[in-house]
Amino acid sequence: MSHAPARPPDRPKRVVVLGATGSIGTNTLDVVRHLPGRLAVLGLTAHASWEQLAGQCREFRPRHAVLCDWEAFRAADRSAFPPETELLSGEDAVARVAADPDADIVVSAVVGAAGLHGTWAALEAGKTVALANKETLVVAGPLVTELAARRGARLLPVDSEHSAVFQALTGHGPSDVSRVVLTGSGGPFRGRTAAELADATPEQALRHPTWNMGPKISVDSATLMNKALEVIEARWLFDLPPDRIDVIVHPESVVHSFVEFADGSVLAQLSPPDMRLPIQYALLYPDRVSGPAKRLDWKALSALRFEAPDRATFAALDLGFEVAANGGTCGAVLNAANEVAVGRFLAGRLPFLGIARCCRAVLDAHDYDPRPSLDRLLALDRWARHEANRWTETR
Ligand code: NDP
Ligand code: MG
Repeated sequence: MSHAPARPPDRPKRVVVLGATGSIGTNTLDVVRHLPGRLAVLGLTAHASWEQLAGQCREFRPRHAVLCDWEAFRAADRSAFPPETELLSGEDAVARVAADPDADIVVSAVVGAAGLHGTWAALEAGKTVALANKETLVVAGPLVTELAARRGARLLPVDSEHSAVFQALTGHGPSDVSRVVLTGSGGPFRGRTAAELADATPEQALRHPTWNMGPKISVDSATLMNKALEVIEARWLFDLPPDRIDVIVHPESVVHSFVEFADGSVLAQLSPPDMRLPIQYALLYPDRVSGPAKRLDWKALSALRFEAPDRATFAALDLGFEVAANGGTCGAVLNAANEVAVGRFLAGRLPFLGIARCCRAVLDAHDYDPRPSLDRLLALDRWARHEANRWTETR
């Protein structure tokens, strides 16, 4: 077997990062920082963190920076940004930067359904999208993958489990696959009973055992809603029916998922829990070069444990399988209800176990449509937020 080493490109790939100031965004910039010959920053967006964004612009000198929040844009000190960076505001600006003709790859790292807009604009422009924002596929999976196919755009997963599956699938088509098994750490409440979780606090939920992430996905990991959203993400990303997707708890977060093939062979991808590796893999795909991500220390790795998830206590997980099977409007409704419920929980206004209950109630109340348009999905997103707010206020 002979492998030609990956030829260094003539120029660095030009990267746009949507959600640059978040956990994935800053990890992405760390990868760029370590690979200056390979990667350069063309555009950065944030919601309101203008001081952090300005610091990133001083370091990476992008052509464009966007603050989505108008108040933050007005408050931002222009002199903190380098002269070559044009500071913009609003959704149109995000779409413009995501579709910049000079962009080679767009990292979609905004949190929540708010990330759909920029991802959509990038795909419409035929860009390669490194997708961290799983909510994009949860809300509008079939429309998003259809758009990518129609525009000749490419979706590369950043979510560690989906990156693992993508890597294990190299050279294989759907008919070779018997099932995909997504691993999850089990979160900070693994092994707890429902009674023990009745008084779980935001502080406890945010203390993730293996990953350091933004607040929303940290709470999603505690409820197992994150795994539920990942089942839906895998369903659309790999065009897999949900009965060929499974979930297993793996507390060490070293095996990032399994692909079981038709012949019984199982391939997995292993690495320490460090998002810089799946980010780098998507940014440089298909090249593999030495980067900043931590390496496995085999001597320190005493055991890899696997256990079945507790679906009764962590009721969100079954919602994910149900929504992946029913498709249509269900993903948009589940996602919006969850965003509201997580916000309420973090504000101390909804008990931990109320998050999944709220999602169940809003899903059950919604007017199901098997083949919704994007406009209908966006309208249902607004409806579900309203409904979830109403539900939590009356509890
Ligand atoms: P963070 O909360 O850390 O960061 C979110 C980013 O999005 C920030 O840059 C924020 O800007 C920006 N943002 C927030 N709201 C809006 C909005 N309404 N409009 C535009 N921009 C907005 O999130 P994470 O980095 O943890 O997660 C990002 C995505 O990646 C999520 O979809 C998550 O599920 C996914 N993911 C994350 C992983 C992780 O390790 N963190 C792992 C796998 C997937 P500002 O700072 O100004 O508020
Ligand atoms: Mg994940």
